[in-house]
Amino acid sequence: MDCIFCKIINGDIPSKKIYETETVLAFHDINPKAPVHILIIPKVHVKDINSLKREHSQFIEDIFTSIPEIAKELNVYESGYRIVVNNGKDSGQEVFHLHFHLLGGAPLPF
Ligand code: AMP
Ligand code: ZN
Repeated sequence: MDCIFCKIINGDIPSKKIYETETVLAFHDINPKAPVHILIIPKVHVKDINSLKREHSQFIEDIFTSIPEIAKELNVYESGYRIVVNNGKDSGQEVFHLHFHLLGGAPLPF
């Protein structure tokens, strides 16, 4: 499958990984839009929010419980951060492998 994030998971494309569990991977966004900009993704290929099914509940739980741990690691736990998920054309989604943006490190101008 021609998916850039699946290639990152498989190690075919390099990334700056910061966190990993059995079901979840997090790495630095290549084009950061804030001082801290992390992408958190499931290791299984799911296209977007619309594609989520009950069977995905384990990685959804893992993603959300990973968020405060990642925030602590990157020193934005106290200062605050935003979680963003783009879904579909009008949102500007560019990579069609579900991902959660974690943005912070400064007051967000948007
Ligand atoms: P979205 O617009 O929500 O689909 O976001 C896709 C994000 O993936 C953008 O913020 C890109 O900068 C980021 N991105 C694309 N390719 C890579 C890559 N190889 N490594 C890290 N981040 C990437
Ligand atoms: Zn994928």
